[in-house]
Order: sequence, then C-alpha cells, then structure tokens
Amino acid sequence: MGGDGTPAGERDGARREEMVRTQIEARGVRSAAVLDAMRRVPRERFVLAEEQARAYEDAALPAGDGQTISQPYIVAYMLEALALEPGQRVLEVGTGTGYQTALLATLGAEVYTIERIPGMLAPAEARLRALGLHDRVRMASGDGTLGWPEGGTFEGILVAAAAPRIPPALASALAPEGRLVIPVGDRERQHLLLATRGVHGLVTRPLIPCAFVPLVGEQAWKS
Ligand code: SAH
Repeated sequence: MGGDGTPAGERDGARREEMVRTQIEARGVRSAAVLDAMRRVPRERFVLAEEQARAYEDAALPAGDGQTISQPYIVAYMLEALALEPGQRVLEVGTGTGYQTALLATLGAEVYTIERIPGMLAPAEARLRALGLHDRVRMASGDGTLGWPEGGTFEGILVAAAAPRIPPALASALAPEGRLVIPVGDRERQHLLLATRGVHGLVTRPLIPCAFVPLVGEQAWKS
C-alpha cells in the first residue's frame, strides 16, 4: 500500500503511464513497440531503494558505484533510433541496472549485454530473472569497447556510456544494415550518433545532445 491507501502496483502503473505520456510521447517518440515496452517494464524495480519516490522522474538517477540509470526519455529515444525487429541480435554496452536490457528483451531482441563493473551484473541479472526476461539475455562482465568477440555481428549495438569516438571494434561488429547508437563527445557533453553499415561503409549522423557517464575501456576513455 502507498501512504494514500493505493496498492503500490496500481500507483506505479499510473506513474509509468504518465511518464510515457508526458516525457516520451510528448517529446516525439512514436514507435508503438517502444512505447508499449516503456509501459510494461517496471522502472521502480531498477532504482535503488532510497530513490523509489523518484523512479518515474524525468531524470537520470544514481545507480550505485558512481553510475546512473539513464533518463527514461533518452532510453526510449535510443531504442527508437535502433529500430529493432523481434528476433534481431543486439549488443548492449553498459548493462548498469539492467533497465534498458529489460526493455530490449521486451522488444523481442536477442540481447547480449556487457558491463565493466562486475558487481553490477548480479543485481541486474536478478531483476531480469524476477521479470522472466533472462532467457533472452546473455550477460558478461568486461570491456564492451572491444565488442563481444565470440558473438559475431549484431543488427543493433547500443552504447549507454559516452565515448570520445566510435570504438573501431564496435563498428566492425555491425552486421550489414546494422545500426549503432552511441553518445560521442567529451566527458561532460555528447551528441547521440546513429551509425549505419551500408554497402559503402559506415554512415554516421548526429541525433540529439546528451550527457552520459564515460565509457571506460581500451577503445574509449582510459579511466
Ligand atoms: N542503460 C543503463 C545505463 C548504465 S550507465 C541503465 O539504464 O541502467 C553506463 C554503464 O556503462 C555503467 O554501468 C558503466 O559501468 C558501464 N560502462 C562504462 N564503460 C564500459 C565498458 N567499457 N564496457 C562495459 N560497460 C561499461
């Protein structure tokens, strides 16, 4: 029960619906599949206990270990830019809390997700398991700037941390017609880029300004 006597599940459902309407649809995200996934995944389960009241705020929130759970709008925006079809293979770099991983699995993708901080993986996995989404997700701890070498190529690659440039290993891991969404810029401010692998190589275009935590690895920031 909430303080007002409303069952918590009902209250969270209403908060989620309002989040989708006022933060995501109102800013122009149109993909029915993405809006549906944002309505279905309970964001409060991916937010720290002390941040519960803020679970549906229009903001990134602290996620422990100096990391963040991204703002709902930017997550929805990136998922729309990826334009995944059910059954496609996607590499997510920066599992974090697992929130975006849960959305990718809900969209029907076959998800490979990699996280640099080993201690963040087990809680993320437990959340996915509790939602029955873990079957569609392979998780690893390591440096995602190097891709997932045994994973082959991917129709989609989603990087949830900011890089100084597109890591060459990720560009190489893109399947023909594959789409890579990644924040590129300095450590404070970036632009989200969409890179598509066409017959003549990679075509890159800037989408919107953003601010992510740094991507730390061999082909990004060193620390
Ligand atoms: N989508 C996540 C956002 C997590 S923040 C969520 O909604 O919870 C970015 C994450 O990227 C952090 O957890 C950080 O540890 C991770 N990260 C940074 N550099 C990385 C790298 N080279 N490989 C894998 N993960 C990395």
